[in-house]
Amino acid sequence: MPNMSLKKVKMREQAPDIRNGNFNEVALGYTAEEAVEEAARCLQCKNRPCTVGCPVSVKIPEFISKIAAGEFDKAIDIIKETNSLPAVCGRVCPQESQCEALCVRGRKGEPVAIGRLERFAADRSMEKPAAERNTAPKNGIKVGIIGAGPAGLTCAGDLAMMGYDVTIFEALHVAGGVLVYGIPEFRLPKEIVRREIDNLKILGVKIECNFIVGKTMTIDELFENGYQALFIGSGAGLPKFMGIKGENLNGVYSANEFLTRINLMNAYREEYDTPIKDFTRVAVVGGGNVAMDAARCAKRIGAKEVYIVYRRGMDEMPARREEIHHAQEEGIIFRLLSNPVEILGTEDGWVRGMRCVEMELGEPDQSGRRRPVPKAGGEFEMEVDGVIMALGTSPNPLISSTTEGLRINRHGCVEVDDKTMMTSRPGVFAGGDAVTGAATVILAMGAGKKAAVAMDQYIKAKNKQS
Ligand code: FAD
Ligand code: SF4
Ligand code: SF4
Repeated sequence: MPNMSLKKVKMREQAPDIRNGNFNEVALGYTAEEAVEEAARCLQCKNRPCTVGCPVSVKIPEFISKIAAGEFDKAIDIIKETNSLPAVCGRVCPQESQCEALCVRGRKGEPVAIGRLERFAADRSMEKPAAERNTAPKNGIKVGIIGAGPAGLTCAGDLAMMGYDVTIFEALHVAGGVLVYGIPEFRLPKEIVRREIDNLKILGVKIECNFIVGKTMTIDELFENGYQALFIGSGAGLPKFMGIKGENLNGVYSANEFLTRINLMNAYREEYDTPIKDFTRVAVVGGGNVAMDAARCAKRIGAKEVYIVYRRGMDEMPARREEIHHAQEEGIIFRLLSNPVEILGTEDGWVRGMRCVEMELGEPDQSGRRRPVPKAGGEFEMEVDGVIMALGTSPNPLISSTTEGLRINRHGCVEVDDKTMMTSRPGVFAGGDAVTGAATVILAMGAGKKAAVAMDQYIKAKNKQS
């Protein structure tokens, strides 16, 4: 008998007033009993609408039926057929707009907690060592992956399973991309990402860190070194600013820099000496996941008051609902329909405040969201000593500017053929944020998977001709 409760089984969490002072994971996961109870809410629909919402087509009813039956190892095997980072996706996928958005239980009540169940199966699994997975014999053909984020890691793993000699070139000193330098520990423990990367190493994937393609070596030089195909998964790490007066004052950070200092350079740990300002009152400008992460981090490193300053309303905010809810619970103050027009400084060049205008919503724009327009006479000042800009990012132009014949679009993103994932340079493939602009982990992984298949076909066809 299915469990007909209209609500998801609740997941245990750290209490808001405790967790806003530490970096430990907020959501604590299901116990086996809770997972079985939640899995029993799935109706095992014949037409499987939920799977259509998953960019990597996880076999959702199948894995959930295994959890309902207490066969947890079988559940994770099913998930891993199509998703190589389930512990990550179960935590950070925007399920409410993907798999769970199409779950029939959501028509009357809450959808089945697909993400939480995926996380449960991944965390619980005894992690079959990667070497035991079915991999093709090594073929000795060298392929190179640029960037060790979810797109690059997924592409590398799939190519290694096909027998290729895979090397990832990563600009930073650690692999993981945004999973390690952007998404904070309290949402995605770094240990989980490290475990996934260790699995790739067991498969034979080599990772060369501190290797900046375009500086250490260009794409042409990599080809000269025997790589038969390359995948660009270099993400979209270049922050945008508003271009308003005062943005170069001390105490103004891009969210990327702020989060990197915290996540990669451990600014929140006493034993680390990473320069980062001790804010008292800080304004985070933006309304996406990045803004929520930056605000929640600022609170955790001791800021007394943290504001989200966003020019539209709550309904238009692009951040995941769960992240907004968590931020509110943790005491983040939302200044909606507000837009900064100037950052005010002290005589010695530090932030002392921000001048904003009140906004109202007009007609919908191209994105379908109502366009914010300034309200007459609605100016106000906020007293803050720090400002974090979380306005979105675009790809860094280093690779495109050092690669002959690589076509990019007007947003600076690499252009690919949708079917083959190949760029305008033969043998060079691309995917993830480098192609789409800032998007999601699961879309980046999906692109990495698709590119791995395309690269395999390209190499086989090329070697057949020669
Ligand atoms: P990235 O993860 O950016 O990885 C690219 C890698 O390439 C990096 O490691 C970079 O150092 C490396 N690189 C760049 N240039 C070079 C070069 N020239 N040579 C060698 N290496 C290079 N998505 C979600 O689904 N859910 C969330 O909750 C979520 N929260 C987010 C929170 C934050 C703070 C941020 C910043 C993003 C968030 N995202 C979230 C978006 C998601 O993380 C990205 O869409 C995803 O990481 C893109 O993967 P990628 O592999 O394309 O790029
Ligand atoms: Fe849902 Fe993401 Fe899992 Fe797909 S990978 S089933 S979208 S949580
Ligand atoms: Fe189960 Fe919902 Fe998918 Fe139906 S739509 S199979 S209830 S998860």
